[in-house]
Amino acid sequence: MEKGIRIADLFRDEQKWLGKTVLVQGWVKTKRDSKAGVGFIELNDGSSLKGLQIITEQQGRGYSELLGKITTGSAILVEGIVSVSPGKGQSIEVRAERIHLYGRADPAAYPLQKKRHSFEYLRQIAHLRPRTNTIGAAARVRSRLSFAIHQFFQDRGFHYVHTPIITSSDCEGAGEIFRVTTLDPAQPLISAEAEDPYKADFFAKPAFLTVSGQLQAEIYALALGKVYTFGPTFRAENSNTSRHLAEFWMVEPEMAFYDLEDDLNTALEFIKYLIGVVLGECPEEVEFFGRYIEPELMKRLENAAQSSFEVITYTEAVDILTRSKERFVFPVEWGLDLQAEHERYLTEKVFGRPVGILNFPRALKPFYMRVNDDEKTVAAMDILVPGTGEIIGGSQREERLDVLLEQMRLKGIPTDDYHWYIELREFGSAPHSGFGLGLERLVQFVTGIPNIREAIPFPRTPGHAEF
Ligand code: ATP
Ligand code: MN
Repeated sequence: MEKGIRIADLFRDEQKWLGKTVLVQGWVKTKRDSKAGVGFIELNDGSSLKGLQIITEQQGRGYSELLGKITTGSAILVEGIVSVSPGKGQSIEVRAERIHLYGRADPAAYPLQKKRHSFEYLRQIAHLRPRTNTIGAAARVRSRLSFAIHQFFQDRGFHYVHTPIITSSDCEGAGEIFRVTTLDPAQPLISAEAEDPYKADFFAKPAFLTVSGQLQAEIYALALGKVYTFGPTFRAENSNTSRHLAEFWMVEPEMAFYDLEDDLNTALEFIKYLIGVVLGECPEEVEFFGRYIEPELMKRLENAAQSSFEVITYTEAVDILTRSKERFVFPVEWGLDLQAEHERYLTEKVFGRPVGILNFPRALKPFYMRVNDDEKTVAAMDILVPGTGEIIGGSQREERLDVLLEQMRLKGIPTDDYHWYIELREFGSAPHSGFGLGLERLVQFVTGIPNIREAIPFPRTPGHAEF
Protein backbone atom coordinates (compact mmCIF):
# COMPACT_ATOMS: atom_id res chain seq x y z
CA MET A 1 0.00 0.00 0.00
CA GLU A 2 1.17 3.50 -0.76
CA LYS A 3 2.46 5.45 2.24
CA GLY A 4 2.29 9.20 2.39
CA ILE A 5 4.24 11.79 4.31
CA ARG A 6 2.80 13.04 7.60
CA ILE A 7 1.28 16.50 7.30
CA ALA A 8 3.11 17.59 10.47
CA ASP A 9 6.43 16.71 8.80
CA LEU A 10 5.49 18.77 5.76
CA PHE A 11 4.78 21.81 7.91
CA ARG A 12 7.93 21.30 9.96
CA ASP A 13 10.16 21.81 6.95
CA GLU A 14 8.12 23.69 4.38
CA GLN A 15 11.11 25.06 2.45
CA LYS A 16 12.46 21.59 1.84
CA TRP A 17 9.21 20.36 0.34
CA LEU A 18 8.35 23.39 -1.83
CA GLY A 19 8.14 22.35 -5.49
CA LYS A 20 8.30 18.65 -4.67
CA THR A 21 5.60 16.10 -5.39
CA VAL A 22 4.23 14.53 -2.20
CA LEU A 23 1.64 11.98 -1.24
CA VAL A 24 -0.63 12.59 1.76
CA GLN A 25 -3.42 10.49 3.29
CA GLY A 26 -6.07 11.54 5.75
CA TRP A 27 -9.63 12.64 6.36
CA VAL A 28 -11.42 15.58 4.80
CA LYS A 29 -12.17 18.25 7.35
CA THR A 30 -13.87 20.66 4.96
CA LYS A 31 -14.41 20.97 1.27
CA ARG A 32 -15.63 23.89 -0.79
CA ASP A 33 -15.80 24.64 -4.47
CA SER A 34 -15.29 28.03 -6.02
CA LYS A 35 -16.14 29.29 -9.41
CA ALA A 36 -13.77 28.52 -12.25
CA GLY A 37 -13.72 24.88 -11.20
CA VAL A 38 -11.21 25.28 -8.40
CA GLY A 39 -11.91 23.40 -5.19
CA PHE A 40 -10.40 23.55 -1.71
CA ILE A 41 -10.09 20.59 0.62
CA GLU A 42 -8.74 20.83 4.15
CA LEU A 43 -7.09 17.51 4.85
CA ASN A 44 -6.20 16.31 8.35
CA ASP A 45 -4.19 13.17 9.06
CA GLY A 46 -4.06 13.40 12.85
CA SER A 47 -0.37 14.31 12.94
CA SER A 48 -1.08 17.96 13.62
CA LEU A 49 -3.90 20.22 14.58
CA LYS A 50 -3.55 22.23 11.40
CA GLY A 51 -4.87 20.69 8.22
CA LEU A 52 -3.24 20.82 4.80
CA GLN A 53 -4.95 22.82 2.08
CA ILE A 54 -5.45 20.84 -1.11
CA ILE A 55 -6.26 22.64 -4.36
CA THR A 56 -8.22 20.70 -6.92
CA GLU A 57 -8.75 21.82 -10.47
CA GLN A 58 -11.08 20.45 -13.13
CA GLN A 59 -9.39 17.81 -15.25
CA GLY A 60 -12.10 16.09 -17.22
CA ARG A 61 -15.25 14.22 -16.33
CA GLY A 62 -14.04 11.25 -14.33
CA TYR A 63 -12.11 13.55 -12.08
CA SER A 64 -14.99 15.89 -11.37
CA GLU A 65 -17.24 12.90 -10.63
CA LEU A 66 -14.69 11.69 -8.10
CA LEU A 67 -14.45 15.16 -6.56
CA GLY A 68 -18.22 15.23 -6.26
CA LYS A 69 -18.11 12.08 -4.14
CA ILE A 70 -15.59 13.46 -1.68
CA THR A 71 -17.37 14.75 1.40
CA THR A 72 -16.48 15.93 4.88
CA GLY A 73 -15.19 12.91 6.77
CA SER A 74 -14.07 10.98 3.67
CA ALA A 75 -10.71 9.19 3.74
CA ILE A 76 -8.59 10.12 0.74
CA LEU A 77 -5.13 10.03 -0.77
CA VAL A 78 -3.74 13.06 -2.57
CA GLU A 79 -0.65 13.27 -4.70
CA GLY A 80 0.41 16.72 -5.77
CA ILE A 81 2.96 19.49 -5.80
CA VAL A 82 3.76 21.52 -2.72
CA SER A 83 3.28 25.18 -3.63
CA VAL A 84 3.34 28.59 -2.00
CA SER A 85 -0.21 29.40 -0.92
CA PRO A 86 -1.55 32.80 -1.95
CA GLY A 87 -4.43 32.53 0.53
CA LYS A 88 -4.20 33.52 4.15
CA GLY A 89 -4.10 31.00 6.98
CA GLN A 90 -1.38 28.81 5.47
CA SER A 91 1.94 29.34 3.75
CA ILE A 92 1.92 26.15 1.68
CA GLU A 93 -0.69 24.07 -0.09
CA VAL A 94 -0.73 21.02 -2.31
CA ARG A 95 -1.98 21.21 -5.89
CA ALA A 96 -3.60 17.86 -6.45
CA GLU A 97 -2.60 15.81 -9.46
CA ARG A 98 -4.07 12.51 -8.33
CA ILE A 99 -6.78 11.79 -5.81
CA HIS A 100 -7.98 8.44 -4.52
CA LEU A 101 -11.10 8.01 -2.41
CA TYR A 102 -10.72 5.20 0.17
CA GLY A 103 -13.98 5.61 2.01
CA ARG A 104 -16.79 8.08 1.73
CA ALA A 105 -18.85 9.60 4.57
CA ASP A 106 -22.49 10.27 3.77
CA PRO A 107 -23.01 13.98 4.49
CA ALA A 108 -26.60 13.40 5.56
CA ALA A 109 -25.51 10.92 8.23
CA TYR A 110 -21.97 11.98 9.28
CA PRO A 111 -22.28 13.11 12.90
CA LEU A 112 -19.42 15.63 12.81
CA GLN A 113 -20.50 18.78 11.09
CA LYS A 114 -18.32 21.85 10.77
CA LYS A 115 -19.53 23.55 13.91
CA ARG A 116 -18.76 23.38 17.57
CA HIS A 117 -20.27 20.26 19.15
CA SER A 118 -20.77 19.96 22.90
CA PHE A 119 -18.48 17.60 24.83
CA GLU A 120 -21.57 15.70 26.00
CA TYR A 121 -22.58 15.05 22.41
CA LEU A 122 -19.06 14.02 21.43
CA ARG A 123 -18.96 11.43 24.24
CA GLN A 124 -21.84 9.65 22.55
CA ILE A 125 -19.74 9.35 19.39
CA ALA A 126 -16.45 8.39 21.01
CA HIS A 127 -15.61 6.39 17.87
CA LEU A 128 -15.52 9.62 15.82
CA ARG A 129 -14.59 12.27 18.37
CA PRO A 130 -10.79 11.89 17.99
CA ARG A 131 -11.28 13.55 14.59
CA THR A 132 -12.27 16.78 16.31
CA ASN A 133 -9.64 19.42 17.07
CA THR A 134 -10.02 19.25 20.85
CA ILE A 135 -10.08 15.49 21.34
CA GLY A 136 -7.36 14.94 18.75
CA ALA A 137 -5.13 17.52 20.42
CA ALA A 138 -5.80 16.03 23.87
CA ALA A 139 -4.86 12.58 22.55
CA ARG A 140 -1.54 13.84 21.16
CA VAL A 141 -0.71 15.63 24.43
CA ARG A 142 -1.61 12.51 26.42
CA SER A 143 0.64 10.38 24.26
CA ARG A 144 3.55 12.80 24.59
CA LEU A 145 3.10 13.01 28.37
CA SER A 146 3.04 9.23 28.73
CA PHE A 147 6.37 8.97 26.98
CA ALA A 148 7.81 11.85 29.03
CA ILE A 149 6.79 10.07 32.23
CA HIS A 150 8.92 7.08 31.29
CA GLN A 151 11.75 9.35 30.16
CA PHE A 152 11.80 11.26 33.44
CA PHE A 153 12.14 8.13 35.55
CA GLN A 154 14.41 6.18 33.22
CA ASP A 155 16.82 9.15 33.09
CA ARG A 156 16.98 9.13 36.88
CA GLY A 157 17.69 5.47 37.52
CA PHE A 158 14.17 4.25 38.26
CA HIS A 159 13.04 0.78 37.17
CA TYR A 160 9.63 0.27 35.61
CA VAL A 161 7.72 -2.39 37.55
CA HIS A 162 4.48 -3.95 36.33
CA THR A 163 2.23 -4.30 39.32
CA PRO A 164 -0.83 -6.55 39.11
CA ILE A 165 -4.23 -5.44 37.87
CA ILE A 166 -6.05 -8.15 39.80
CA THR A 167 -5.36 -8.18 43.53
CA SER A 168 -6.79 -9.68 46.66
CA SER A 169 -5.76 -6.74 48.82
CA ASP A 170 -7.73 -3.54 48.90
CA CYS A 171 -5.23 -0.81 49.57
CA GLU A 172 -7.43 2.18 50.20
CA GLY A 173 -10.56 1.02 51.96
CA ALA A 174 -13.94 -0.54 51.36
CA GLY A 175 -16.68 0.48 49.00
CA GLU A 176 -14.64 1.73 46.06
CA ILE A 177 -13.47 -1.55 44.60
CA PHE A 178 -14.59 -3.59 41.63
CA ARG A 179 -14.94 -7.29 42.23
CA VAL A 180 -13.41 -9.80 39.83
CA THR A 181 -15.32 -13.05 39.66
CA THR A 182 -16.20 -15.82 37.23
CA LEU A 183 -19.38 -16.65 39.12
CA ASP A 184 -22.55 -15.93 37.19
CA PRO A 185 -25.16 -14.10 39.25
CA ALA A 186 -27.83 -15.66 37.02
CA GLN A 187 -26.67 -19.17 38.04
CA PRO A 188 -27.45 -19.82 41.71
CA LEU A 189 -24.77 -21.77 43.57
CA ILE A 190 -25.58 -25.31 44.60
CA SER A 191 -25.98 -25.57 48.36
CA ALA A 192 -22.56 -27.11 49.09
CA GLU A 193 -20.89 -24.18 47.36
CA ALA A 194 -23.15 -21.59 48.89
CA GLU A 195 -21.55 -22.19 52.31
CA ASP A 196 -18.26 -20.88 50.96
CA PRO A 197 -19.10 -19.15 47.70
CA TYR A 198 -15.46 -18.32 46.96
CA LYS A 199 -14.61 -22.01 46.74
CA ALA A 200 -16.32 -22.10 43.38
CA ASP A 201 -14.80 -18.84 42.26
CA PHE A 202 -11.72 -18.50 40.05
CA PHE A 203 -9.22 -17.33 42.67
CA ALA A 204 -10.89 -19.24 45.53
CA LYS A 205 -11.00 -15.97 47.45
CA PRO A 206 -12.31 -12.43 46.97
CA ALA A 207 -10.46 -10.65 44.17
CA PHE A 208 -10.59 -7.07 42.94
CA LEU A 209 -9.34 -4.69 40.28
CA THR A 210 -6.45 -2.73 41.74
CA VAL A 211 -7.03 0.77 43.13
CA SER A 212 -3.28 1.42 43.27
CA GLY A 213 -0.04 -0.42 42.58
CA GLN A 214 1.67 1.18 45.55
CA LEU A 215 1.91 -1.73 47.96
CA GLN A 216 3.49 -3.94 45.32
CA ALA A 217 5.73 -1.07 44.17
CA GLU A 218 6.98 -0.86 47.78
CA ILE A 219 8.13 -4.49 47.51
CA TYR A 220 10.27 -3.64 44.49
CA ALA A 221 11.54 -0.34 45.93
CA LEU A 222 12.86 -2.35 48.89
CA ALA A 223 14.90 -4.41 46.46
CA LEU A 224 15.67 -2.26 43.42
CA GLY A 225 15.87 1.13 45.14
CA LYS A 226 13.87 3.43 42.89
CA VAL A 227 10.93 2.10 40.91
CA TYR A 228 7.74 3.28 39.30
CA THR A 229 4.58 1.65 38.11
CA PHE A 230 2.39 3.17 35.42
CA GLY A 231 -0.85 1.55 34.44
CA PRO A 232 -4.62 1.49 34.75
CA THR A 233 -6.27 1.62 38.17
CA PHE A 234 -9.91 1.27 39.05
CA ARG A 235 -12.22 2.87 41.57
CA ALA A 236 -15.93 2.22 41.86
CA GLU A 237 -16.51 5.71 43.19
CA ASN A 238 -20.13 6.46 42.61
CA SER A 239 -19.38 10.14 42.27
CA ASN A 240 -20.21 11.96 39.10
CA THR A 241 -17.63 14.71 39.28
CA SER A 242 -15.54 16.40 36.61
CA ARG A 243 -12.35 14.83 38.03
CA HIS A 244 -13.21 11.22 38.86
CA LEU A 245 -13.19 8.22 36.53
CA ALA A 246 -13.86 4.57 37.34
CA GLU A 247 -10.83 3.60 35.24
CA PHE A 248 -7.82 5.89 35.13
CA TRP A 249 -4.08 5.69 34.62
CA MET A 250 -1.79 6.31 37.54
CA VAL A 251 1.98 6.82 37.73
CA GLU A 252 3.36 5.70 41.06
CA PRO A 253 7.05 6.11 41.86
CA GLU A 254 8.35 4.51 45.05
CA MET A 255 11.81 5.28 46.41
CA ALA A 256 13.88 3.57 49.10
CA PHE A 257 15.77 5.90 51.48
CA TYR A 258 13.56 8.89 50.61
CA ASP A 259 11.77 10.86 53.31
CA LEU A 260 8.75 13.13 52.83
CA GLU A 261 10.89 16.08 51.79
CA ASP A 262 12.69 14.03 49.13
CA ASP A 263 9.32 12.74 47.99
CA LEU A 264 7.91 16.26 47.66
CA ASN A 265 10.97 17.49 45.79
CA THR A 266 10.76 14.59 43.35
CA ALA A 267 7.09 15.30 42.74
CA LEU A 268 7.72 19.01 42.09
CA GLU A 269 10.62 18.30 39.75
CA PHE A 270 8.42 15.73 37.97
CA ILE A 271 5.53 18.14 37.40
CA LYS A 272 7.82 20.89 36.17
CA TYR A 273 9.53 18.49 33.81
CA LEU A 274 6.21 17.34 32.34
CA ILE A 275 4.94 20.89 31.87
CA GLY A 276 8.22 21.80 30.21
CA VAL A 277 7.78 18.92 27.75
CA VAL A 278 4.25 20.01 26.87
CA LEU A 279 5.26 23.66 26.42
CA GLY A 280 8.29 22.72 24.37
CA GLU A 281 6.90 19.92 22.26
CA CYS A 282 3.17 20.53 21.95
CA PRO A 283 3.13 24.31 21.32
CA GLU A 284 0.41 24.07 18.68
CA GLU A 285 -1.90 22.19 21.05
CA VAL A 286 -1.19 24.48 24.03
CA GLU A 287 -1.93 27.51 21.88
CA PHE A 288 -5.20 25.92 20.74
CA PHE A 289 -6.32 25.02 24.27
CA GLY A 290 -5.41 28.49 25.51
CA ARG A 291 -7.46 30.08 22.76
CA TYR A 292 -10.56 27.89 22.81
CA ILE A 293 -10.72 26.09 26.15
CA GLU A 294 -8.99 27.91 29.03
CA PRO A 295 -7.81 31.53 28.65
CA GLU A 296 -5.65 31.24 31.79
CA LEU A 297 -3.82 28.17 30.48
CA MET A 298 -0.56 29.71 29.31
CA LYS A 299 -0.21 31.75 32.49
CA ARG A 300 -0.88 28.67 34.63
CA LEU A 301 1.63 26.52 32.81
CA GLU A 302 4.36 29.12 32.79
CA ASN A 303 3.78 29.80 36.48
CA ALA A 304 4.03 26.13 37.29
CA ALA A 305 7.07 25.55 35.09
CA GLN A 306 9.09 28.50 36.41
CA SER A 307 8.09 29.61 39.88
CA SER A 308 8.59 27.54 43.00
CA PHE A 309 5.48 25.92 44.38
CA GLU A 310 3.88 27.02 47.61
CA VAL A 311 4.26 24.42 50.38
CA ILE A 312 2.13 24.55 53.54
CA THR A 313 0.96 22.12 56.18
CA TYR A 314 -2.58 20.79 56.45
CA THR A 315 -2.95 22.76 59.68
CA GLU A 316 -1.93 25.98 57.92
CA ALA A 317 -4.34 25.20 55.09
CA VAL A 318 -7.21 24.83 57.55
CA ASP A 319 -6.22 28.15 59.17
CA ILE A 320 -6.23 29.95 55.83
CA LEU A 321 -9.60 28.46 54.88
CA THR A 322 -11.29 29.26 58.19
CA ARG A 323 -9.99 32.83 58.12
CA SER A 324 -11.14 33.39 54.53
CA LYS A 325 -14.40 35.13 53.72
CA GLU A 326 -15.26 32.62 51.01
CA ARG A 327 -18.53 30.72 51.47
CA PHE A 328 -17.85 27.01 51.07
CA VAL A 329 -20.45 24.28 50.67
CA PHE A 330 -18.48 21.84 52.84
CA PRO A 331 -17.37 22.64 56.40
CA VAL A 332 -13.74 23.42 57.21
CA GLU A 333 -12.42 22.14 60.51
CA TRP A 334 -9.17 20.50 61.67
CA GLY A 335 -9.73 16.77 61.18
CA LEU A 336 -12.02 17.03 58.16
CA ASP A 337 -10.82 16.25 54.66
CA LEU A 338 -10.24 19.09 52.19
CA GLN A 339 -12.86 19.08 49.45
CA ALA A 340 -12.30 20.04 45.82
CA GLU A 341 -13.70 23.53 46.45
CA HIS A 342 -11.18 24.08 49.28
CA GLU A 343 -8.31 22.77 47.18
CA ARG A 344 -9.19 24.97 44.25
CA TYR A 345 -9.63 28.04 46.47
CA LEU A 346 -6.14 27.56 47.89
CA THR A 347 -4.37 27.00 44.59
CA GLU A 348 -6.39 29.44 42.46
CA LYS A 349 -7.39 32.30 44.78
CA VAL A 350 -4.93 32.31 47.66
CA PHE A 351 -1.66 31.39 45.93
CA GLY A 352 -2.32 31.47 42.19
CA ARG A 353 0.05 28.58 41.61
CA PRO A 354 0.49 24.90 42.53
CA VAL A 355 0.44 24.14 46.25
CA GLY A 356 1.86 21.24 48.24
CA ILE A 357 0.06 20.33 51.46
CA LEU A 358 1.89 18.26 54.07
CA ASN A 359 1.10 16.35 57.25
CA PHE A 360 -2.58 15.41 57.21
CA PRO A 361 -4.51 14.14 60.24
CA ARG A 362 -3.73 10.51 60.90
CA ALA A 363 -7.41 9.54 60.98
CA LEU A 364 -7.99 10.77 57.42
CA LYS A 365 -5.27 8.76 55.76
CA PRO A 366 -4.57 5.05 55.07
CA PHE A 367 -2.68 2.76 57.46
CA TYR A 368 0.61 2.73 55.55
CA MET A 369 1.44 6.43 55.95
CA ARG A 370 4.23 7.19 58.42
CA VAL A 371 3.06 8.54 61.77
CA ASN A 372 4.69 11.88 62.68
CA ASP A 373 6.23 12.59 66.10
CA ASP A 374 3.12 14.54 67.15
CA GLU A 375 1.23 11.23 66.75
CA LYS A 376 -1.74 13.21 65.39
CA THR A 377 -0.58 13.59 61.80
CA VAL A 378 1.04 11.44 59.15
CA ALA A 379 3.83 12.27 56.67
CA ALA A 380 1.43 12.72 53.76
CA MET A 381 1.59 15.17 50.89
CA ASP A 382 -0.95 16.29 48.32
CA ILE A 383 -0.16 18.57 45.40
CA LEU A 384 -2.92 20.81 44.14
CA VAL A 385 -3.06 22.68 40.85
CA PRO A 386 -5.37 25.40 39.53
CA GLY A 387 -8.41 24.13 37.68
CA THR A 388 -8.24 20.58 38.96
CA GLY A 389 -7.29 20.61 42.64
CA GLU A 390 -5.48 17.46 43.81
CA ILE A 391 -3.27 16.01 41.13
CA ILE A 392 -0.79 14.08 43.30
CA GLY A 393 -1.20 12.20 46.57
CA GLY A 394 1.77 10.66 48.33
CA SER A 395 3.50 9.94 51.60
CA GLN A 396 6.46 8.58 53.46
CA ARG A 397 5.55 4.98 54.31
CA GLU A 398 5.56 3.55 57.84
CA GLU A 399 8.73 1.49 58.08
CA ARG A 400 8.55 0.75 61.84
CA LEU A 401 7.00 -2.64 62.52
CA ASP A 402 5.39 -1.78 65.85
CA VAL A 403 3.86 1.48 64.58
CA LEU A 404 2.57 -0.22 61.43
CA LEU A 405 0.90 -2.99 63.43
CA GLU A 406 -0.68 -0.39 65.72
CA GLN A 407 -1.98 1.55 62.69
CA MET A 408 -3.47 -1.63 61.21
CA ARG A 409 -5.13 -2.46 64.51
CA LEU A 410 -6.60 1.06 64.84
CA LYS A 411 -7.92 1.02 61.29
CA GLY A 412 -9.19 -2.55 61.40
CA ILE A 413 -6.92 -3.88 58.64
CA PRO A 414 -6.62 -7.69 58.81
CA THR A 415 -2.94 -8.61 59.24
CA ASP A 416 -3.39 -12.01 57.52
CA ASP A 417 -4.04 -10.42 54.14
CA TYR A 418 -0.97 -8.24 54.48
CA HIS A 419 1.54 -10.68 56.00
CA TRP A 420 3.94 -9.94 53.15
CA TYR A 421 3.66 -6.19 53.71
CA ILE A 422 4.41 -6.69 57.39
CA GLU A 423 7.36 -8.97 56.64
CA LEU A 424 9.00 -6.22 54.64
CA ARG A 425 9.25 -4.40 58.00
CA GLU A 426 10.76 -7.48 59.62
CA PHE A 427 13.40 -8.22 57.01
CA GLY A 428 15.59 -5.25 56.16
CA SER A 429 13.03 -2.51 56.61
CA ALA A 430 14.10 0.90 55.33
CA PRO A 431 12.60 4.38 55.14
CA HIS A 432 10.85 4.89 51.82
CA SER A 433 8.36 7.17 50.13
CA GLY A 434 6.27 7.51 47.02
CA PHE A 435 3.35 9.19 45.36
CA GLY A 436 0.63 8.72 42.78
CA LEU A 437 -0.12 11.08 39.90
CA GLY A 438 -3.36 10.64 37.98
CA LEU A 439 -2.55 10.91 34.26
CA GLU A 440 -6.00 12.26 33.34
CA ARG A 441 -5.81 14.99 35.97
CA LEU A 442 -2.45 15.96 34.55
CA VAL A 443 -3.93 16.06 31.04
CA GLN A 444 -6.73 18.23 32.43
CA PHE A 445 -4.22 20.58 33.97
CA VAL A 446 -2.02 21.01 30.91
CA THR A 447 -4.94 21.39 28.48
CA GLY A 448 -7.47 23.21 30.64
CA ILE A 449 -10.10 20.67 29.61
CA PRO A 450 -12.89 21.14 32.18
CA ASN A 451 -14.11 17.55 32.38
CA ILE A 452 -11.89 14.52 32.95
CA ARG A 453 -14.06 12.55 30.48
CA GLU A 454 -12.29 14.37 27.66
CA ALA A 455 -8.82 13.56 29.05
CA ILE A 456 -9.08 9.81 28.32
CA PRO A 457 -10.09 8.19 25.02
CA PHE A 458 -12.84 5.99 26.45
CA PRO A 459 -14.14 7.26 29.80
CA ARG A 460 -15.66 4.81 32.27
CA THR A 461 -18.00 6.43 34.76
CA PRO A 462 -21.11 5.24 36.64
CA GLY A 463 -23.51 3.90 34.01
CA HIS A 464 -21.03 4.31 31.15
CA ALA A 465 -18.79 1.66 29.66
CA GLU A 466 -19.59 1.98 25.97
CA PHE A 467 -17.06 1.66 23.17
P1 ATP B 1 -9.60 12.55 45.45
O1 ATP B 1 -9.53 12.99 46.87
O2 ATP B 1 -9.47 13.65 44.46
O3 ATP B 1 -10.76 11.64 45.16
P2 ATP B 1 -7.77 10.52 46.23
O4 ATP B 1 -7.25 11.18 47.43
O5 ATP B 1 -8.75 9.44 46.35
O6 ATP B 1 -8.33 11.62 45.20
P3 ATP B 1 -5.31 9.13 45.77
O7 ATP B 1 -5.77 7.86 46.32
O8 ATP B 1 -4.37 9.96 46.56
O9 ATP B 1 -6.56 10.03 45.33
O10 ATP B 1 -4.74 8.84 44.29
C1 ATP B 1 -3.60 9.52 43.76
C2 ATP B 1 -3.95 10.33 42.53
O11 ATP B 1 -4.74 9.59 41.60
C3 ATP B 1 -4.82 11.55 42.81
O12 ATP B 1 -4.04 12.62 43.27
C4 ATP B 1 -5.43 11.82 41.47
O13 ATP B 1 -4.53 12.48 40.61
C5 ATP B 1 -5.65 10.44 40.92
N1 ATP B 1 -7.01 9.95 41.13
C6 ATP B 1 -7.55 9.43 42.26
N2 ATP B 1 -8.81 9.03 42.09
C7 ATP B 1 -9.11 9.27 40.79
C8 ATP B 1 -10.26 9.05 39.96
N3 ATP B 1 -11.35 8.46 40.45
N4 ATP B 1 -10.20 9.42 38.68
C9 ATP B 1 -9.09 9.99 38.16
N5 ATP B 1 -7.97 10.23 38.87
C10 ATP B 1 -7.96 9.87 40.17
MN1 MN C 1 -5.24 11.72 47.80
